[in-house]
Amino acid sequence: MRHDDFPPPTSRTGPRRRPVPAAAVLAGVCLTAAGCAAGSGSAEGSPTASRQASSAPASSSSPRVSPAPDASPSTGPTSARPLPRGPLTGRTVVIDPGHNPGNRDHTREINASVDIGTGRKECDTTGTATDAGYAEARFTLDVSRRLRTLLEEQGARVVLTQDGDRSFGPCVDERARIGNKERADAVVSVHADGSATGNRGFHVILPAAVSGGGADTAKIVAPSRELGVRIAGNFVRVTGSAPSNYIGGGTGLDTRDDLGGLNLSTVPKVFIECGNMRDPKDAALLTSEGWRRKAALGIAEGVGSYLKR
Ligand code: ZN
Repeated sequence: MRHDDFPPPTSRTGPRRRPVPAAAVLAGVCLTAAGCAAGSGSAEGSPTASRQASSAPASSSSPRVSPAPDASPSTGPTSARPLPRGPLTGRTVVIDPGHNPGNRDHTREINASVDIGTGRKECDTTGTATDAGYAEARFTLDVSRRLRTLLEEQGARVVLTQDGDRSFGPCVDERARIGNKERADAVVSVHADGSATGNRGFHVILPAAVSGGGADTAKIVAPSRELGVRIAGNFVRVTGSAPSNYIGGGTGLDTRDDLGGLNLSTVPKVFIECGNMRDPKDAALLTSEGWRRKAALGIAEGVGSYLKR
């Protein structure tokens, strides 16, 4: 499909961006060092999950994400099998795979306006794609499923907002409500950006302090920042990718007040834009199964570091 079939992704439509001071990243590195020490090997070295990634694409080189021969297909967004006990036992993580591959066929539904607390916004967007047609929605689902496997291996209860099990959406307000309803200890919304060629790297989006309508992020701003800093630091370490060279002033962190998925959250939540699908070098990473495995591991290590702090 042609890339200009895709409107700008949600994350690029916001009018306000406030870069986070570089100190935040320095703190992230420090936190990461501690977190990495504690979390190092927690995913790599953990025993094979009892519930293999039946819904994840096959991986020939890592038993962690290889489907078990007897694995039954995923039938819903929640874990279907007993979880192993691990350092994240008792914790709930909601993973939000950005967009939905079916959104492009449901223009009317995803263009419908929903209340994001501080205003109204479209239900969802199609997301972006590489120039070769690899859709962001495919990327987000793939990384999210890998991330689910890694977190479940550590005992976490994981819920996906969508698992390729619905024809479109959910809308951004519902995505937020799922995290709230599950009383998630952490929520990560997985995305990839659609910016200009030459713009490279990842960034984590943190909720700004907003209040209005059904939105009140006062209680989640600080823990979400903590979560985001740890994800950013671990993402750098595991993937080797640099923080964005076009958003966040080199910190890999951005704060926004225009995303319903953040505004309506009552639990700690961040978005991660894993790279720029429109840049050829970033696209080569995003379309690489090996890199996506590392991306999921970097996020998992960040979430684990946050939950074990
Ligand atoms: Zn997106």
